[in-house]
Amino acid sequence: KSGEEIKLRDNNSTNGTFVNDKAIKEAVVLRKEDMIKIGNTILKYLPAGELEIFYLGTLESAAHTDPLTKVYNKGYIMESMEAEFKRAKALHTEFSVIILDLDHFKKVNDTHGHDAGDYVLKEMAALVRTKILPKGAIFGRFGGEEFMILLPDKGLEAATTIAESLRSGIEKHPFTYETKRLPITASIGVAENAVDVENYTALFKLADKAVYQAKSGGRNQVCTGS
Ligand code: GH3
Ligand code: MG
Ligand code: MG
Repeated sequence: KSGEEIKLRDNNSTNGTFVNDKAIKEAVVLRKEDMIKIGNTILKYLPAGELEIFYLGTLESAAHTDPLTKVYNKGYIMESMEAEFKRAKALHTEFSVIILDLDHFKKVNDTHGHDAGDYVLKEMAALVRTKILPKGAIFGRFGGEEFMILLPDKGLEAATTIAESLRSGIEKHPFTYETKRLPITASIGVAENAVDVENYTALFKLADKAVYQAKSGGRNQVCTGS
């Protein structure tokens, strides 16, 4: 590693090292998706933080997007969670997840109609995506009014601060449907990949349990799972 650059050098190996099928003679700077060949093995180089492009191919594909809210769909967010969990374990980096469930959402539908409910989901997703989440957060919808946020390189404390800004941002936002102001709040659970969390399913369960605590504690609050 020299500065921001990652360089690859061959230490006079018998069979050589190839980058994009060219034998390297001196240290070369690696670029995203370079193919490195050593013997019969080919490795693809992805810079740290760019792992997401690896999951399922292209990022902006409609196949990964929830049509209503334009955030990642259940399939993509779950794949991402597994991949990010493994990456954090392998690299000994922090990783946290947030689960967000809108409060009494059924009542919004029952009182103002299903279209009003759809409006709230869209508006909330846009608010969270454009105004609240930090760069690097991965945001997806995995249920009707249930959303997940993956926070690579963030521990429980940083994630809880973000969760609190989600909670207050949603509570304060003037959701307005057909001139009516709708009071919207969310219950939020946070969990991190502590040493005793063995797989991504266990991490999901911790965050989900924390949502349940937030609900039973009176809703419109953030709880942490451990
Ligand atoms: P709680 O505070 O306990 O979470 O209560 P809740 O009413 O939010 O939870 P519940 O699981 O009882 O209801 C969720 C509702 O979300 C029921 C379902 O009709 C509605 N819903 C799910 N997906 C959509 C959607 O895409 N559009 C609309 N408008 N409503 C949806
Ligand atoms: Mg729910
Ligand atoms: Mg709900």
